[in-house]
Amino acid sequence: MGHKPITRDKTVALASQSDRRLAPSAAASWNDVCAEMKERYGWTPYVTSAWRDQDTEQVRIFTSRHTLGNHKGKPGYSTASYAVKTWNGQQWTLKAGMANASVPGTSPHGAGIAVDAGKDGRSFSSFTDPNRVQFLAVARAHGWTDTTGRAVSEPWHFDYEGPADKFPTTIGEKMLPLNLASANKTPVVGDAVLVLQALLTARKHYKGALDGKAGPVTRTALGAFQSAKGLKVDYLVGPVTWNRLLGIA
Ligand SMILES: [Zn+2]
Repeated sequence: MGHKPITRDKTVALASQSDRRLAPSAAASWNDVCAEMKERYGWTPYVTSAWRDQDTEQVRIFTSRHTLGNHKGKPGYSTASYAVKTWNGQQWTLKAGMANASVPGTSPHGAGIAVDAGKDGRSFSSFTDPNRVQFLAVARAHGWTDTTGRAVSEPWHFDYEGPADKFPTTIGEKMLPLNLASANKTPVVGDAVLVLQALLTARKHYKGALDGKAGPVTRTALGAFQSAKGLKVDYLVGPVTWNRLLGIA
């Protein structure tokens, strides 16, 4: 079981921490979680790690916590169910006292759909931390779960399971402008449309297919979103509308 890694250009920066990145719809959801936490409880969750490059950072994390070979049961090694893993055809064993680390290329962090989170610049360190309990109640309502975090004894790890991230995204740093003004006559096609459809789905304005092809249904959903946000209904997706969709502004 694993998650398909995405490259940095397919991620976007988080509103609260520009040095942390996620896939667009996970980022949009995270920005919503932060806004609601701030409003309800007066604090913003802190992200210690979000998207991670699997060829560099995940390799570094994995190799710093594991030793080549199967050493399960020997002193100095973890006895957890996930202690022994196979990477590049060889077995590796988790060292005692180390947090779990996914095999490079399989981490949900590589897919841009996971955060390691906490408060005040550090990760949650306990499942019973009252701040974590507050946080999880809000995050769950936005599509985040701690199922994997519990399975690997990580109180700080959360995955986004919203419907919008079951497909690849290719928008990234530069939010491509889209013009859907005549989409009812000539469909607008492309990966940026896929991202738009995903975000409109997450915003509950779109119930159509995630097919990267914007026709009348996508156009109407975009207009409804712009109207609901008090924006000019021009069917143009420029910086203002992208940021609204991402929950940044
Ligand atoms: Zn994690």
